[in-house]
Amino acid sequence: MTTDGFRRGAPPRVGLVSLGCAKNLLDSEVMAGVLARGGFEMTTEPESADALIVNTCGFIGPAKEEGVNTILDLARLKRSGRCRRLVVAGCLAQRHAAELADAIPEIDAVVGLDEVERVAEILEGSLGGAARRTPPLTADQSVTWLYDHTSPRIRSTPPHTAYIKVAEGCDYPCTFCVIPQIRGRFRSRTPDSVLAEAEDLASDGARELILVAQDTTAYGADLGIRHGLATLLRQLAGVTGVEWVRFLYAYPTTLDCEILAALAEVPELCRYVDIPLQHASRRVLSAMRRPGNRASNERLVARIREAVPGVAVRSTFIVGFPGEEEQDFEELAGFVEETQFDAMGAFLYSNEDSAASFVPEERISEAEKESRRARLMEIQQAISLRRHRALVGRDVRVLVDGAPEESDLLLAGRTEGQAPDVDARVLLVDADRPPEELVGRFVTARITEAHPEDLVGRVVG
Ligand code: SF4
Repeated sequence: MTTDGFRRGAPPRVGLVSLGCAKNLLDSEVMAGVLARGGFEMTTEPESADALIVNTCGFIGPAKEEGVNTILDLARLKRSGRCRRLVVAGCLAQRHAAELADAIPEIDAVVGLDEVERVAEILEGSLGGAARRTPPLTADQSVTWLYDHTSPRIRSTPPHTAYIKVAEGCDYPCTFCVIPQIRGRFRSRTPDSVLAEAEDLASDGARELILVAQDTTAYGADLGIRHGLATLLRQLAGVTGVEWVRFLYAYPTTLDCEILAALAEVPELCRYVDIPLQHASRRVLSAMRRPGNRASNERLVARIREAVPGVAVRSTFIVGFPGEEEQDFEELAGFVEETQFDAMGAFLYSNEDSAASFVPEERISEAEKESRRARLMEIQQAISLRRHRALVGRDVRVLVDGAPEESDLLLAGRTEGQAPDVDARVLLVDADRPPEELVGRFVTARITEAHPEDLVGRVVG
């Protein structure tokens, strides 16, 4: 027990800020579960917290910047408020533990990615002197932790939607990506563990399960399971109470026919494929050490659409990769125009010094990268608007998420072709039932308006 009154009287209150992607959010949910089990009380108000934890992302420059700025904001709060512990966790902490602890003296402890389930004891023990640092990994060590169905977890998503991390780490060599260095080698959870978790989530009210991993379509390969994801999807679709199952982050060469057949055949599996293709030019893809070229990408998307009628296909691309010439970008723009994705995102290349693609001096300026991204997004906006207009007057099945951030007067929901946070939404107006009767339920909405970002609809059933 510590001596500064941290544990005196009422349970210490902990505020947890989760940055980055859904995979990181899951680690945060496990941390919250571990802390609650350890007798801590979670709070969403940092000002009233006795301890603050930031779960950081370290994927690319802007994410690292957001992480550092958040830590600095909370360090200020610690200096001026009631907070007595500041703990940093996540990818940025794993990568830069010593630098962060040296530069920001308010940090009391750094929690490594292998130590997520030890967060309560680390928080309890962190006091005075130099910050507690995660033990550094040697060159031949890598992170191995992955939660399972026995890990405590407090969900932060709406009760009807839950993420499940089915695997962690990645064995691909994409030159721009530092994930394998940070998160370690690819490793899958057992099907039994995933199913047990799905059953718990469903009995707790989850109607939609979203499977995530760095490399979701390789699920099970390391356990010697053939067609692991396809089999798992079919099993999850049979869990009582689950009405939608989707997965994110397909890899082009492991999105196999078995997975597509499952999507086409099983009504509970969302006809939705999120496949980050990263580029379309053979030259750039090969510099990224990624498979394919424009023609193979076109064939892949055609194969998905043919195998799964009505499927929504989403992709993401990187612009400004070192050596991306004007003609490479034009090839990418032509590919996006021609493929008519249902949804698309574009990111600027981030020159990470520990990534294989790092160049000491980038030839493509940030302004040029921005302009390439803007051009891609403009193409996609026109495509999305056309696609959305084709839905006006049609009835679609929508899962109602709740009031959107921008207005309490509306409700927002999603079709099976729309994943949370990244895709368009269906904004529901004129519902004649109160929100509490609709949130978390599936309704039929008649689409009345189309915009590039969102659809507007009326609940008709
Ligand atoms: S497949 Fe994804 S996570 Fe793996 S190295 Fe490539 S970009 Fe990174």
